[in-house]
Amino acid sequence: MVGAGLGGMTVAGFLQRAGFAVAVYEQAPAFSRIGAGIILSANVMKVLRRLGLEQMVVDIGIKANCYISRAWDTGDTMYRIDFDAASEARFGGPYANIHRGDLHAVLEKGVTPGSIAFNHQLVGLDETADAIRLVFANGAAVDADIVIGADGVNSKVREYLLGRDPPRYIGMAAHRAIFPTTALRGFEIPDCTKWWGPDRHILVYYMTSRRDEVYAIGVVPHAPFESDAASLPSSRAELLRCFEGFHADLLRVIEVTTDVTVWPIFDRERNDRWSGGRIVLLGDACHPMRPFMAAGGAMAIEDAAILSRCLAQFDEPAEAWRWYEATRVGRVGETQRLSIENSWMRGATDTDWFYCYDPCTAPLRRPE
Ligand SMILES: Cc1cc2nc3c(=O)[nH]c(=O)nc-3n(C[C@H](O)[C@H](O)[C@H](O)COP(=O)(O)OP(=O)(O)OC[C@H]3O[C@@H](n4cnc5c(N)ncnc54)[C@H](O)[C@@H]3O)c2cc1C
Repeated sequence: MVGAGLGGMTVAGFLQRAGFAVAVYEQAPAFSRIGAGIILSANVMKVLRRLGLEQMVVDIGIKANCYISRAWDTGDTMYRIDFDAASEARFGGPYANIHRGDLHAVLEKGVTPGSIAFNHQLVGLDETADAIRLVFANGAAVDADIVIGADGVNSKVREYLLGRDPPRYIGMAAHRAIFPTTALRGFEIPDCTKWWGPDRHILVYYMTSRRDEVYAIGVVPHAPFESDAASLPSSRAELLRCFEGFHADLLRVIEVTTDVTVWPIFDRERNDRWSGGRIVLLGDACHPMRPFMAAGGAMAIEDAAILSRCLAQFDEPAEAWRWYEATRVGRVGETQRLSIENSWMRGATDTDWFYCYDPCTAPLRRPE
């Protein structure tokens, strides 16, 4: 397994439970608590439940009680969904928000201790008739029966499978900030709000059940970045400039932001080839999508659940890959399309097909 991100950790946890010998190779020296939150909807929480991790996410993060879409200028509510016992019963799980660093710490508890090899940046693959060799920047090399490329948007495994093809900059960037709720000095905000402007939007939500930490992510048009850095410093002043003229309720929030950073956003054109030989891809490695539906991580985690089921069911990897792709590409493709459209929960939205889905029990789809 290459990459200890959201999808990689999840598939490792499932495969280890199914009796596979799994090693996870991660380029980073350790997990770090980078400044960002993540939304996990019911379809994801059902997967984490099977790994015994759902309650931990709920305890460390927050079960949001609502999501509200508001118009940037009038503040009018364009869409609202309340999350309560009835919605949990309907969707089969809660809607949770959590700090990404905290989510990683939870996912780490789902894998066998010692199975993640940090400081292992994959630089090459060499497939022979009997095995596939992984070569790392630190000089290490290991042979494996199969390789799961869960190495994100700049996937090296994808490059080996499909050739060099850098991801596409979408012309927008995300300003991200985390700050303590006390900074709002009593000004009350809902658990999760998305403010919709004509060419930009901003999402504000709590990340803890104590509601003591707030995350804001504002996505705006942005010239291409001159550096390759994953993020650059931004500022409260810059965020205020980007959202000038927006409703006073939002500006009250932006005015107290601290530690703002800006991240370029990349995706790829849809390509439904996710496997070949001893290699299979999941998550952003094969379908990075715009973060406008808050669903890229959800798709990686769903992929992990389905892929592990296919590997447990079919002895031949090629057969497992065929069932995995047949089961996943339709749902992922629709999520990619909606993410580009940026229409999810902007107005009346059928959420059932997305939230009610359970990748641990949904029928696997027979390949054509
Ligand atoms: C601004 C923004 C906001 C988002 N918000 C949400 C949200 O609210 N909800 C949601 O579901 N999704 C969200 N997403 C999408 C989500 O973050 C991604 O889709 C998700 O992280 C993909 O998971 P992954 O496991 O495929 O890859 P990643 O989580 O990116 O993990 C890839 C891992 O592989 C490692 N790696 C990379 N190359 C190598 C190599 N050569 N060798 C070894 N290791 C390597 C990386 O270090 C990393 O740990 C958001 C994305 C962005 C950009």
